[in-house]
Amino acid sequence: MSQFDAVDARWLERTVELATLNIANGGGPFGALIVRDGALVAEGYNRVTADLDPTAHAEVVAIRAACKAEQSFSLVGATLYTSCEPCPLCLAAALWARVDRMVFAADRHDAARGGFDDLEFYDLFARDRSTWQIPVVSLRIPQSPAPFDAWLAHEARTEY
Ligand SMILES: [Zn+2]
Repeated sequence: MSQFDAVDARWLERTVELATLNIANGGGPFGALIVRDGALVAEGYNRVTADLDPTAHAEVVAIRAACKAEQSFSLVGATLYTSCEPCPLCLAAALWARVDRMVFAADRHDAARGGFDDLEFYDLFARDRSTWQIPVVSLRIPQSPAPFDAWLAHEARTEY
């Protein structure tokens, strides 16, 4: 293990600890950290059932807390450590947050063993949407592009 890996492994150990402790607190077995320049910015742990929030995955909770702590919507330069491979929701959230790196401990197959749908969703995204059981319907109405016209016309917009 290189020195770099050893540093990552220590942060990952903390996410696994958070994930395991979270079970007794009524959350799912997932923990995440946002780290910048070797310092902890924020922690997150799964709060889906405890908070009645299907988006309260550990990574999302950590990203929200880190952005609040840094008073920014961008986490450029930060690393997301997570006890389990980010699901599609968290992967996208981390992309939107513009983190520099993501490092995870367990993977989607471990999550599937625990009864979680990460693997199923990844498989779903790999299939053509026409084969999905849940309809995702595009219906172009004349007003469809209007919000983007308004956005582009708004000179004081904050791009992200
Ligand atoms: Zn997730």
